Parts: sequence; C-alpha cells; structure tokens
Amino acid sequence: MAKRTTRRDSALAVVVQGNGDVADNRPSVALQDRRLSFGDKWNYAPAPESNSYIKLKPRYSLFINGKFVTPRSGKYFDSINPATEEKLSEIAEGNARDVDRAVQAARRAYQTSWGNLSGRERGKYLYRIARLIQERSRELAVIESMDGGKPIKESRDIDLPLVAAHFFYYAGWADKLGYAFPGRTPRPLGVAGQIIPWNFPLLMAAWKLAPALACGNTCVLKPAETTSITALHLAEIFQEAELPDGVVNIVTGAGDTGRALVEHPKVDKLAFTGSTEVGKRILRAVAGTKKKLTLELGGKAANIIFEDAAIDQAVEGIISGIYFNQGHVCCAGSRLFVQEGVFPHVIRKLRDRISTLRVGDPLDKNTDIGAINSRMQLDKICQLVDSGVRQGAELVQPPLRLPKKGYWYPPSFFTGVTASHRIAQEEIFGPVLSVMTFRTPEEAIERANNTPYGLSAGVWTDKGSKIFKIVNKLRAGVVWANTYNKFDPTSPFGGYKESGFGREGGAHGLLPYVSLT
Ligand code: NDP
Repeated sequence: MAKRTTRRDSALAVVVQGNGDVADNRPSVALQDRRLSFGDKWNYAPAPESNSYIKLKPRYSLFINGKFVTPRSGKYFDSINPATEEKLSEIAEGNARDVDRAVQAARRAYQTSWGNLSGRERGKYLYRIARLIQERSRELAVIESMDGGKPIKESRDIDLPLVAAHFFYYAGWADKLGYAFPGRTPRPLGVAGQIIPWNFPLLMAAWKLAPALACGNTCVLKPAETTSITALHLAEIFQEAELPDGVVNIVTGAGDTGRALVEHPKVDKLAFTGSTEVGKRILRAVAGTKKKLTLELGGKAANIIFEDAAIDQAVEGIISGIYFNQGHVCCAGSRLFVQEGVFPHVIRKLRDRISTLRVGDPLDKNTDIGAINSRMQLDKICQLVDSGVRQGAELVQPPLRLPKKGYWYPPSFFTGVTASHRIAQEEIFGPVLSVMTFRTPEEAIERANNTPYGLSAGVWTDKGSKIFKIVNKLRAGVVWANTYNKFDPTSPFGGYKESGFGREGGAHGLLPYVSLT
C-alpha cells in the first residue's frame, strides 16, 4: 500500500519510490548521487520586509458607486494570512442585491459620465491611477504577500510593476483605438462583469480593468474570496484619482456572488479567469444571451528541453516555470519533457537546485516559495501528489523543514510519470512538477499537445530553426523559447481548447471590450 505523503511528513521525505516505500537514501546513496552538504551554512540571515506601517481595516465593505458601502446581506467572512493562519480582516459578502446595485451604478456611470468622455480624458485617469499605484507599490506588495502568501520579492518585483505597467499601457491606447482597428469604428460595450482568481489578485484586476476602461466601458469586479483586500485598496486609489463614481465597482464574496454577476441581465460583457470547471458553468449560463465572453482557464503546460539546450539555463527555466508563485500559475510549466540523452543530467541538476530553494515567510526578501494560498488548495495538492505516488511515479522532495503554522508545500517533482497519470493530466496548481522523457521532436510535439488544455508551453534548444518548427506545431496560446513565465502588458495572453478563448494584453486585449462597425 502506498504511503500517503502529507504536507507535514513531506518536509522530511526524501524519495518516495514507485511502490510507495519511503527510501531513506542517507546510508545507501550511490556514488554518482553523492553531493556536498553544507548544512545550515547555506542559510541566509532573515531579511524581513516590515509590515508595521500597514493599516488593514478590521472590516472591508463593498465599493459601489464610488463609496464603501455595507453589504445588503449584512454578512462578512474572514480573510486569513495563509502563512500564519491568523485573521487579517473581515470581507463583505455581496449578494445578488449588492451585485444589482453595482451593475446599476456601472450602467449609470456608463450613460452619464464615462461613456461620454473622450479617449484622451479616459487616458488621463488611467495614467493617474498608474502613477498612484506606483506611489503605493511597496504597501500594496506587502498586503498582497500577507493576504495571498506569495513571496515579497515576487509581489514587489513582478506583480506590482506589472499592475502599474498595465494601466500605463492601456492609458496609451485610450485615445488611439482607431489605430488598433484600422478602417473600423470601435465602440464600448457597456458594463463589464469581471471575475478574478486568487493567484495574482491585483495583477488580474489590472488585466481586466485597464483595457475595459480604456475602451470606455464601466466595470463590476468580483475578486476571489481568499484575496480581496488589495482590490479594495485599489478602490481607494480610484477615489484618490477622482475616477467618476460608478466607473469601477467591487463586489466581494464567494462563488454565489460571482454567479449573480454572471446571471445579471444588465451586464454586457463577462471576463473570467479561474478554473476550467467554473468557466464551463459560466459558458452554459451565458449561452443564448447577448453577453460577450472571454475565458482564461486552466493549463498543463509542456516545458520541452532538447539535448542541445543550454542545460543550466534550462534548469533555471524549469524552476521559474513551476515554482514561481508556489506553482499557483495557470501557465506554469507543470509537465516537463526532457530529451532522453540529457535526462539523468537534468534530473541531477534539478534535484540539487530545488534543495537550494528557500520555503517560508513570504515577507522575507530571501524567500523563494511562500505559503500555499488556502487550506483547500493545500489539500488539493496533497491529494494529487498522493495519487501520483499511488499510480507509481517517484516523488523527489528536498529534505527541508516547513514552518509549523500556515499552509506549506515543499518544491517537488515526479519522475517515472506516464501520460495517463492524474499528475500528468490535471492542473495541480502547486509547486509540483511531472517529468517525462521523449526521443524525437515529433514525439515531443505529440506528447506536449496530448492534453485538453492549450494555454502555454516552453521550448529549450540552441537551434532557432527548431524553435520555429516546434512553436508552430504546439497548440498553446503562449510559447516561450529559452525562457519561461515572462509577462509584458504589450503581449497578448490566452488559450486554446479547455484553456479558454479570447486574449488579454497587447492590442489584442482591446478587442473583447469593443464592438466594431
Ligand atoms: P474558481 O474557478 O472557483 O475561482 C475563480 C473565481 O471565480 C473566484 O473569484 C471564484 O470566487 C469565482 N467563482 C466560483 N464559482 C463561481 C460561479 N459559479 N460563477 C461565477 N464565479 C464563480 O477557482 P478556485 O479558486 O476554486 O480554484 C480551483 C482550482 O482552479 C485550482 O485548484 C486551480 O487548479 C484552478 N485555478 C486556475 C486558475 C487559473 O488562472 N487558470 C486560477 C485559480 C484557480 P471564490 O474565490 O469566492 O470561490
């Protein structure tokens, strides 16, 4: 019977073999697998980012028509810091009546203010918002890490700069929409309902709001239940920027709040990022209505390493591909395909590299892997890892100790994975990689495309011609070559197949928010 690898005992587990037995490799390490151990001499001194100046409200209300208002439901739910399991604040639970209030406010703003403004004026507001985000960037990054568990070096150096960049970028488009659609006349759609997930809370808000506003729409945003706080601080920025009332409304709550938004008859456009399962439900709810829809759903990306790749760089690409943001990334390179000739070499380097990753306090500037976003997500990761072990794959985890409180999972990878394993098919959405091999480019393409998803992929080789050949045959919306997880507001992002449809980012990201005549 296979041993269940839990988040606690996995901290000390070394290799769980296909038959489920845990092998303590210390006394019997093969010569070629032996390596130097520096013990705790590798440790960095703590470098905590201060959060003493952060002032969270004990309770966050809904943001409707330019004001913070209490929810009609009268209910609030707790927002937890996943690294400490401590309550950070209470968040209003919006119900269908709150959603209706928000949609009415957005409709009024569309008809009386925002819809009548010139692109040039809209652009000025967006620039102002972008600058205010930059001014409060550090504070927002700290709150993002406290509320969501992501390492401060990511929220500070990746999320927040990209949030500001999205507003700057779409501010630039606001008065140039005619150039995006030559010979056509773009018109806004009206009220956009936007539902976002918990993995990049502010960044997803920016991806949704900035293009919608640039095109002249007004918005009702539904953040994810576990990560609503930064969206409400963004609402304060909208107030400070004197954005006209009702142009952006934020209704917090759980899945039912999102459903009320999806089903509201006065919403003209819906944009959703999240799981494929909920995406399908939304698709069914919208069928037969006039609502325009874009869906950015799950992924199970192939990261393909050819023998001629620069292996050290490729290993860094594998690391950032799967362990960035604890693997809570829809485009994570979660299926690694390594050409057979370099497989042992890559695995050895990967094993060494993951043992240098620091897991722990998200507010420590040296932390590489922060907390898992919620207990629910941690349970899902453990469940899928258990299934991998049960189905015969070999689990590799570094021998590290995880903090006692909070939700944690060590960086992990599986070898001996076959295409039929659940860990090769399903989105784990955690720091867990499934490694497989291939012999020829044709086999790599076939195996990479053998998934219901089609969001992203990576290719590592020193031959430009091979990159072009492979990239054109991969059914993925984004393909990175000799790099991974690079994002830029000018670059479109989106999927094929069960990863959804429609593009966000770049000039392509304007299209879902306009009608063309
Ligand atoms: P969901 O798809 O449930 O959540 C995404 C957003 O949709 C949240 O704001 C959620 O609200 C809302 N929502 C939930 N149900 C409905 C509904 N019926 N109608 C409208 N909106 C709804 O993702 P989960 O948070 O449950 O994560 C589950 C799995 O989904 C993860 O394990 C991961 O595999 C995948 N996922 C993929 C993401 C991606 O970017 N591709 C992002 C997040 C998750 P609330 O948070 O309150 O439930």
